[in-house]
Parts: sequence; structure tokens; C-alpha cells
Amino acid sequence: MKFISTRNQSPAALLSESLSLGLASDGGLFVPEALPLFESLPEKFRGLEDTAAFMLQPFFEDDKLGPQLPSICKSTFKFEAPLVDLGQNISVLELFHGPTAAFKDFGARFLAQVLKRLHPKDPIQILVATSGDTGGAVAAAFHKINNIKVGILFPSGKVSKRQERQLTCWDKNITTFSVQGDFDDCQRLVKEAFNDENFRATHHLTSANSINIGRLLPQCVYYAKASLDYVSKHKEKPGFIIPTGNLGNAVAAFWARAMGFPIREIVLSCNANDSVYQYYQSGAYTAQPARKTLANAMDVAVPSNLERLQNLYPDLANLKTFSQAFTINDDEIRQSIQKAHSKYNYVSCPHTATAFAALEKLSGSHWVVVSTAHPAKFDEIVEPILKIRIPVPESLEKILTRPTRYKPIAPTLEALKKSLPPAPSES
Ligand SMILES: *Cc1c(COP(=O)(O)O)cnc(C)c1O
Repeated sequence: MKFISTRNQSPAALLSESLSLGLASDGGLFVPEALPLFESLPEKFRGLEDTAAFMLQPFFEDDKLGPQLPSICKSTFKFEAPLVDLGQNISVLELFHGPTAAFKDFGARFLAQVLKRLHPKDPIQILVATSGDTGGAVAAAFHKINNIKVGILFPSGKVSKRQERQLTCWDKNITTFSVQGDFDDCQRLVKEAFNDENFRATHHLTSANSINIGRLLPQCVYYAKASLDYVSKHKEKPGFIIPTGNLGNAVAAFWARAMGFPIREIVLSCNANDSVYQYYQSGAYTAQPARKTLANAMDVAVPSNLERLQNLYPDLANLKTFSQAFTINDDEIRQSIQKAHSKYNYVSCPHTATAFAALEKLSGSHWVVVSTAHPAKFDEIVEPILKIRIPVPESLEKILTRPTRYKPIAPTLEALKKSLPPAPSES
């Protein structure tokens, strides 16, 4: 399979190249030249690993990674994504059973397994700026992969306590920088590092950010499996309601639907950052600076994966025949956490609560609420609303009890350079 840029100005690439480059040379995002269409589907798959081996095979065709697909799937899908039946034809797809209790574990683990195989000898350095969830998932996924060094940059004092622990509990090949500045400073530092040609070359810098197609492909897998499981149990196609920021999770659902998996509708629930909602209303949006909300992992002003959605559905009217978007403010998030608890006895994180809020506004039946993080990660928000203690899942507990270490740095490239020695040369 070939992958092309959403901007059509750079040459088509095979999978390996798209994964290593991250971004196409024209600044666009890689998308499959044509999505495979599965005409006949098994009634059910055993687990995510089997689903992945089946549905990702066409993407790996002709690529040097092809023979390694089974082992990549085996190492990635070590935990499941259960579909929890709440009754009344409502289910929750729980994507938070990985090591850092958020859906980003799937993409980060897949990318780690792929890069490890693409760079078996030549050491590389990954740099990630994080406002909370991404850094932890990437660190957990790459920890102890010897040849790949990872630098995580987070804004000092600006992430939740549990998020900070998840970012700072690593050793070996992971280094965490507490940057004296805000998230924008962290992003700027990563960009400056990439633009410094000498630094980039001596460190063999590579990116693991959310626009890499390696983060999206594994996410199609849980939508495929969940839709088949739902149909096999309820004999009806479900609609999915997806908490949305950068549209990375949602684009995977659109791809799974286009590949022929039984997904009736796709509903996007945004927080007060309403660019995607505006796009659905008018076909365009005015980007405002990102607003801080209770669902902080969705505080995105410019949703980069919108290019991928437009590439798949250039005609908005057509897209809207099976998809819609909502914007949910912080008050509604609080009420929704309460209501999901009283109505379904379900404890949801603030991101998942946007999807429960959208559910209340929808007509029709057979909905799957996509749960993107475990509520224990956001105990400071959820516990006071519900006045309960949320038990911490075992995988998260493991991380939260490890010793922490990080390097405080000033928000300058000089400071980052001083604290980040070049990758060891091949020996
Ligand atoms: C990243 C994240 C989101 C948003 O996902 P996108 O792919 O950016 O749309 C939603 N919820 C949680 C918990 C996240 O970490």
C-alpha cells in the first residue's frame, strides 16, 4: 500500500517511510492512498491482537515491516478494550486499560514497536512536548527500548499531580524535563530542536507526535472489534460518540467505518474548544487560542487531523449524513459526570463526560460512548463532584508508586542542549 500526503505535493511513500518521516515533506499528513474494503468479515474476532493482524495486513503490504506485523501486534495489544453494557442499548468502549490509563497507550505502544524494528542498530532520539497524557503514554511505551532515547518536556507546575507522576517516574532511556514555562514553550523548544540542523543530526531526532500515522492505525482496531462485538450481541449497528480534541481518535473510527466495519454513525463531542463543531456547522472555523477546560487533553484550538477527515470526506454534506458534532462546556461536563453516575451507575472522566453529555442530546438508540481515560487520573475533578473515592487501577498504581526524577530547565534551546547529550554512536 502507498501513503499519500493530504496536501498532494509530496511523493507517495510506503508504510515504513511514512512512519519514520511523521509529516509529509509538503507539511501534509500521510493517509492511505485507498482504504482497503473488507467485503466479508468474521462474525467476531477473539481479541484485539487477532483483529489487528487481520485488518492491518493491507497497510503493511509491500513494506519491509510486513513480515513483522504479527510480532508488532502481539507486543502492542497486551490489554483489551472491553465493551461494557450499561443497559438501555447503551454501551461504553473502555480504552483505558493500558499502562497509563488513557487511549493514547495504543498509539504510543504501536509506534514504539514499529520504530524499534525500523532502527535496530542506529540510535535515535525522540522529543515530545506534553500537556499531560501524551508524554506518559510515550514514556511507558518506549521505556527500556535500548536504542531509542526519549526526552519528555512538560510545563512545570501545570499538569495534574497524577499526570506529573506519570511523566517523572522513568529511568534508563527516558529523560523528563520540567520546563519553566507553559505548554507552548515546550512545543516551541521541540520545534527549535528540530529546526537546529546540527542538533537534529547529532541526536538523530525523530518525532512521536500525534500526527504520525503509526498512532492512528492501531486505533482503527478497537473500533473494528467493538462494532462487530456490538452487532453480534444486539443485532444492530451501533453509533459511536467520541470525545474529540485533535481528531486522532475519531479519524481512526471514520477509517474503520470506511473499511466496511458495521458502524452506523460517528458523533464527535468537543469541549469548549469548538473548532470541530464550527466546522460541522459552516465548513470552516476561526481558530481562537486554546481555552483551558476540565477535559484538558482536548484543549486543542487547531485540530490537525481535520485534514485527514476532509481528505476522506471532502463533501461536508455527505459527511453529515452519518456524523455530527457537539460542543460541551465545563458546567455541562460537571452535570454529565453526575448524570452518568446517577443514571447508569458509571464513573466517567471529564473527557468521557463530554460524550455522555452528547448522548443526552441525541435521539435514536444503540450508542457506544467511547471512554478515553480512567476517572482515577482526574480524581481532583471527579471525586468532589461525586463525593466518592475512585479506586486506582492496578496498572496505574504501579506507575504512581515509583520514585520520580526529572531535570528542571529554563525554556531555552541552550538549556535543553546542555541537558541532552548526543545519542551514542553505533558501536
Ligand atoms: C488525547 C485525549 C483526547 C482527545 O483525543 P484526540 O485524538 O486528540 O481527539 C480525549 N481524551 C483523552 C483522555 C485524551 O488523552
